[in-house]
Amino acid sequence: MKTALITGITGQDGAYLAEFLLKKGYHVLGMLPQRSSTSLWRLDDLGITEQIRFVPGDVTDISSMLKIIKQYKPGEIYNLAAQSFVGSAWQQPILTCNVTGMGVLNLLEAVRLSQCDCKIYQASSSEMFGFVQQPVQDERTPFYPRSPYGVAKLFGHWMTVNYRESYGFFACSGILFNHESPLRSLHFVTRKVTHAVARIVHGLQSKVKLGNLDASRDWGFAGDYVEAMWLMLQQDKPDDFVIATGRAVSVRHMCQTAFDCVGLDYSDYVETDPTLFRPAEVDTLLGDPSKAKKILGWEAKTSFEETIRMMVEADLKRVREQFGPKKGTHAP
Ligand code: NDP
Ligand code: GDP
Repeated sequence: MKTALITGITGQDGAYLAEFLLKKGYHVLGMLPQRSSTSLWRLDDLGITEQIRFVPGDVTDISSMLKIIKQYKPGEIYNLAAQSFVGSAWQQPILTCNVTGMGVLNLLEAVRLSQCDCKIYQASSSEMFGFVQQPVQDERTPFYPRSPYGVAKLFGHWMTVNYRESYGFFACSGILFNHESPLRSLHFVTRKVTHAVARIVHGLQSKVKLGNLDASRDWGFAGDYVEAMWLMLQQDKPDDFVIATGRAVSVRHMCQTAFDCVGLDYSDYVETDPTLFRPAEVDTLLGDPSKAKKILGWEAKTSFEETIRMMVEADLKRVREQFGPKKGTHAP
């Protein structure tokens, strides 16, 4: 039986990837950092918590990773752990760089020092393109990160490439564009909006305040993207891949799509709040996933509209279960 170690298992991608690998028959090890409270809600939502072996560890603590890798000798390691919210990266730049950047080097060093013969997936990000140097970004597009998060991811990306070139590591960097799902954290704009839609429908909230509505993103479905991570590690040689849908949509259009799902006009509910604008914005991201299609045989299956509808429906269900129907509110 193959053993895979996932860092960041409690996050959105960690949950979908664990589910995917369990279905493939893997023994899944999930690294859990010690926290005053740890939420397993995503894994519980997918009904897979009991099938995972949790091991204590933190990517900022190389000794914990060395211990796990030596003890379990995983054949594949998926490094998903990060402070992943761009908006928080200006408030916590050092923590972001320690976790999202140095965490990658800690993992690579733990693998090197333990002489573990394993394949490594590094969760790189389209945020590395930041102030985009080409209208459509692919594996050859120069990087220009625009946030401490983007800079930290770029460090992790180049370290991954460097360990591959220096030590012959089977290490792949997936340059993933934004991907969403009902398991997305509420910090991110799609889930903030779909959650607000559900609360508005149930009369629990009347408006939603957002920042820059003109930014656009290449939004895919997280459930599709975890397959690409796995496919990268099944190839004969390690490489880096852009994973995207090839279509960009503005935040404004995303709001319209989400409110349309419940028959409401977004412009009656969305307000702009200047304090939610970022110090430096990534105006647009649009990926070219041709290489992934050609070499991995991967392409996005779920459309942007399907993803947003899935999120709205999941949030409506959650809010309904939590608060029940209220009189005088819009029907879902
Ligand atoms: P999440 O924020 O949902 O998950 C991040 C995970 O990392 C959580 O399980 C979190 O645990 C864990 N974590 C945080 N700090 C540490 C630490 N010090 N040691 C160990 N674990 C830690 O992110 P996603 O699932 O959305 O993304 C997965 C990865 O992919 C991340 O690296 C992200 O930056 C990257 N990525 C994501 C994209 C997206 O659109 N989703 C796009 C491109 C890249 P806890 O919750 O307990 O803090
Ligand atoms: P990101 O691409 O990883 O930063 O994902 P987000 O979902 O956090 O943000 C996507 C885009 O939406 C960015 O350009 C944000 O500036 C923009 N945006 C506008 N309003 C908001 C908001 O209220 N919250 C968040 N998170 N993003 C917003």
